[in-house]
Amino acid sequence: MGISGQRSSVDAVVVGAGFAGLYALHKLRSQGLSVRVFEAAPEIGGTWYYNRYPGARCDVESVDYCYSFDPALEQEWDWSEKYAAQGEILRYMNWVADRLGLRDGITFDTRVTAAVLDEENLRWTVTTDTGEVVVARFCVMATGPLSAALTPDFPGLDGFAGELYHTAHWPHEAVDFTGKRVAVIGTGSSGIQSIPVIAEQAERLYVFQRTPNYSVPAGNRPLTDEDRAQIKATYAERRRLSWRSGGGSPHIAHPKLTMEVTPEERRAAFEKRWELGGVLFSKTFSDQMIDPAANEEARKFYEEKVRAVIDDPEIAELLIPNDHPIGTKRICTDTNYFETFNKSHVKLISVRETPIVSIDADGINTSDAHYDVDAIVLATGFDAMTGALAKIDIVGRGNRSLRDDWAGGPRTYLGLGVDGFPNLFLVSGPGAPAVLANMVLHAEAHVNWIADAITYLDDHGHTAIEATADAVDNWGVELRQRAEATLFPKADSWYTGANVPGKPRGFMLFIGGFGAYLDICADVAAAGYKGFRLI
Ligand code: FAD
Ligand code: NAP
Repeated sequence: MGISGQRSSVDAVVVGAGFAGLYALHKLRSQGLSVRVFEAAPEIGGTWYYNRYPGARCDVESVDYCYSFDPALEQEWDWSEKYAAQGEILRYMNWVADRLGLRDGITFDTRVTAAVLDEENLRWTVTTDTGEVVVARFCVMATGPLSAALTPDFPGLDGFAGELYHTAHWPHEAVDFTGKRVAVIGTGSSGIQSIPVIAEQAERLYVFQRTPNYSVPAGNRPLTDEDRAQIKATYAERRRLSWRSGGGSPHIAHPKLTMEVTPEERRAAFEKRWELGGVLFSKTFSDQMIDPAANEEARKFYEEKVRAVIDDPEIAELLIPNDHPIGTKRICTDTNYFETFNKSHVKLISVRETPIVSIDADGINTSDAHYDVDAIVLATGFDAMTGALAKIDIVGRGNRSLRDDWAGGPRTYLGLGVDGFPNLFLVSGPGAPAVLANMVLHAEAHVNWIADAITYLDDHGHTAIEATADAVDNWGVELRQRAEATLFPKADSWYTGANVPGKPRGFMLFIGGFGAYLDICADVAAAGYKGFRLI
């Protein structure tokens, strides 16, 4: 492949070979469509191909963070830990790809640079950086909500003479920090997972923190044969609960509201969630992300837990967030994060108090000091939700580009379609619950909906499906109203675009819960694709 000027035709082009793209290939193929997948990386995996930093692992339990569409896959694969490490997740994805014979449908090392609509024939002309041109009826953008890594524009970064890493582009060869002075910039999930592991090797570790984050211990542990047998015996029920849940996991919030229970019951509920570990702490009670008083109860419990493991009260003060309600940014899931700051060779630098001014050949200059380091690790996150799509020239009706259309922020209907872009589908992008849910199930749900829509078009003699402008506008209002009814907009998070200088602000996700969202999508389909125009 990749022969300049070569032009072929398929039913569907899928961009990306992460969890979403792989399933899209399998599902659409099994429906009899001809499919080409283009993947910029040399291998499958997406997130799990790139993010191989020390300590990288999932924060949704492995037994839930895996495909559900084929019970045989669930029964045959054995997860070794409650939260599998990056390497194991990548092995799982490769195993699935081999089991389903997916590799021959994927063209690797090939980036899609443009997708242009032929308005008359309603076909997409997809162009790649290897010069290949493919004409397709459908375009499925499985480009990932967290696949465009963000490197801040630190003056002098290019002149740093030491080793420079980004967590989202970690090298394949082993990185050894033994005997080295290392700086980690960023304390989101990636920083918080990697810092304790890097601290085990580094001679000196400087952590540059701008905004402290809430992090709950993972409680990670090996799964026993009994654990696996029990989960496999009850998988169907586990999945049933996940599909109906707020976040795509089988754990249900306490049946009462936070302030309806006695202080003892409340504490017991928080304690139980704390033991469960990680991100689901924000869903202990169903009103925790809505009612400020309820949120404050969770925050106080959290603060007590964290203070108890940090030796130095001044360090604790710096590490405990005070600028956003708990859960309004994704709660991080850690192993020994706060304990790491008790080690004498680990130093926390608050760049809120003393900002990073520049980087030079030897290290990092803050407003009050110079830090000599041998290596810098950027754990500075992503241009989330829209970053990967913005890199592609997607041109729809009237020569209108998606980039221009979204200049004021993304506009979608259900997170699946955009007016002016017929037969172009987004997977796990803005306007859907996406990263607020277990993303493997979320990808399956989106791909299933898309596959059903394609069947419906064919069964009813239509060529294309296109969101109407009204439906897109109304969905935007619904997203905003739902977000404003919660505490989420109170945080400067990547959910709102706040982490990228100059990016338009707005809550980009559907906050109403995974199960509720799936009901809306199903209702739309059942009503003959209400809000879409069938052409
Ligand atoms: P990705 O895995 O991001 O795949 C997108 C692919 O598209 C990439 O391989 C990329 O190279 C390719 N691509 C993009 N643009 C182009 C182009 N123009 N041409 C060709 N190829 C292109 N979610 C959870 O639910 N639970 C977790 O525990 C969890 N942990 C995470 C840990 C980390 C470190 C990160 C960064 C994210 C995590 N997430 C988690 C979110 C995660 O991104 C999703 O769970 C999921 O892996 C996304 O799958 P995807 O296929 O949608 O996108
Ligand atoms: P992130 O949450 O956006 O964190 C980026 C960090 O870098 C923040 O601490 C940010 O500070 C800091 N930063 C950015 N620019 C900076 C600058 N110019 N100067 C100083 N600090 C700067 O990114 P992430 O940690 O990669 O995580 C992104 C998402 O990926 C997560 O929320 C999660 O959904 C997913 N993820 C999951 C896991 C997991 O546990 N399974 C692991 C990694 C990632 P500010 O907060 O002040 O902006």
